[in-house]
Amino acid sequence: MKKIIVSLGLLLMVLTFNGHAANLKTDLDAELDTLMEKVIEWRHDVHQHPELGNREFRTAKKIADHLRSLNIKVETGIAYTGVTGYIEGGLEGPTIALRADMDALPVEEKTGLSYASKVRTSYLGNDVGVMHACGHDAHVAVLMGVAEFLAKNRRFLKGNVLLIFQPAEEGAPEGEGGGAKMMLAEGLFERYSPEVVFGMHVANIPHGYVFLKPGPAMAASSAYRIKIKGVQSHGSRPWDGIDPIMATAQLISALNTVVSRRINIINNPAVVSVGIVKAGTRNNIIPEDAEIIGTIRTFDPELRAEIYDEIRQIAKGIAVGTGTKITVEFDFSGFYPVTVNDPELYQAMKASLVEATKGQFVEWKDPITGAEDFSFFAQEVPGLYFSLGVNKKGVTELQPGNHSPYFTVDDDALDEGLKSLIYLTLDYPEIQKN
Ligand SMILES: [Zn+2]
Ligand SMILES: [Zn+2]
Repeated sequence: MKKIIVSLGLLLMVLTFNGHAANLKTDLDAELDTLMEKVIEWRHDVHQHPELGNREFRTAKKIADHLRSLNIKVETGIAYTGVTGYIEGGLEGPTIALRADMDALPVEEKTGLSYASKVRTSYLGNDVGVMHACGHDAHVAVLMGVAEFLAKNRRFLKGNVLLIFQPAEEGAPEGEGGGAKMMLAEGLFERYSPEVVFGMHVANIPHGYVFLKPGPAMAASSAYRIKIKGVQSHGSRPWDGIDPIMATAQLISALNTVVSRRINIINNPAVVSVGIVKAGTRNNIIPEDAEIIGTIRTFDPELRAEIYDEIRQIAKGIAVGTGTKITVEFDFSGFYPVTVNDPELYQAMKASLVEATKGQFVEWKDPITGAEDFSFFAQEVPGLYFSLGVNKKGVTELQPGNHSPYFTVDDDALDEGLKSLIYLTLDYPEIQKN
């Protein structure tokens, strides 16, 4: 009798395991509403308590506590505040990495939401508001939800799952290093050997839609800083000095001719923007120093080198013309490579995303000039990075985008993101066998 029960048990196990992906998807559908209630609660909490890069202490603790409560193996303090969770599956298979970023931005929230952030901090010497203006609160909460579902069903998982909660995607404080690059430098992928990496980003695109561009998808991002030194004088006697603000004005105009007049962008898009201009303390003092800081977005390393040269040329010319001393620095706060969605992996996994979103899937064609340090992970192993539409249902007009003080995430759109990550995780080991 005992033998029969054991055999029946084994048979049942085999049957369950064979159809495991399909079964788990049905289970997920049944639990989705309950799980999403928690995800939304976590997101609102994280949204209300945003933290800048490498300072995500509260967020990291919340995540680590949650993962531990699920009996997941947890590592903390990776690249300052990074957290990982490792779920060992009950069945043989590859390790799949899923990544969410945790940091917020120095932006004063103007959404008027009941759970809007009121947090302030000091950033680059200024008193600023802090806001999850890029939606990383949604990424954190969704991956916590994914963790809960996968941990609960770990004995049916083919292979293992590495959950990566990454700090400082928006860049680390100067001189600190951080983000994906630092997590990798600290041996993350050597320790867990993932075979693929998946990630998502919320965006102001149609509700619940997943957009993915195969191949080079998002730009490389470099920062530049130009320092201008003049000779200080009284505002009433400018002839006594050399005005760095005049040189700054000329530089801004000239920088805007790099893309429009100096380089060939027919095959390779590029952007040069000025984001910060600093000079002066008072209306009637011409200062000694001024500074310009900006970003460069490219898809082609040669074109990037050309842009660097053009900026150096411009600075040299204006220094001679104005008598100021001008220095140019590139990538002082790190450099993000192009984010590439592995074309073969895309072909293999596309059907999962179509299924997860019930057809709300768009193969995106245009390169995106936004940048992502997910690119570092996707340089190590094949990766897919998709955008999730978080506009309100039915909204067709352009909504405030990522980094806007008005950027909002519709909670009801997040289940498509959660399902997409889980479907990719369940389907990858099956596809790999074929
Ligand atoms: Zn961002
Ligand atoms: Zn972001």
